[in-house]
Amino acid sequence: MSEKYNLFYSFKQFPAEDACRKYLEKRRWNNNPVCPHCGNAQKIYSYKNGKTFKCAHCHKQFKVTIGTIFENSNIPLQKWFLTFYLIALSKKGISSVELSKTIGVTQKTAWYLLHKIRYINSSVISVMKSL
Ligand SMILES: [Zn+2]
Repeated sequence: MSEKYNLFYSFKQFPAEDACRKYLEKRRWNNNPVCPHCGNAQKIYSYKNGKTFKCAHCHKQFKVTIGTIFENSNIPLQKWFLTFYLIALSKKGISSVELSKTIGVTQKTAWYLLHKIRYINSSVISVMKSL
């Protein structure tokens, strides 16, 4: 396990929602957005909010979270990322009650997060370990 792989490091690396989104953009597109609708990578507009892109070819909008487990979720990326760390760091696993208290969500939301993450568990954990 990498030395920087700890909770403190995650706070430094992902201090805000923006940092999480930028991390995903770099990881997914190497900062050159590709339209998930038509595959165009030549001319992509970005909106002032910094989150939304629009394809100049098919005119459809998209965000970096499209097609990922983060899509259609109102849970901040920071909480998702923190959950990845907590799961990866805990030896015995983490319960939804424990997670809800730790990241400040309802137990129902915590359960949802754990359920979603378990579904894709091994690949995500290895991604987080390689940060
Ligand atoms: Zn397109």
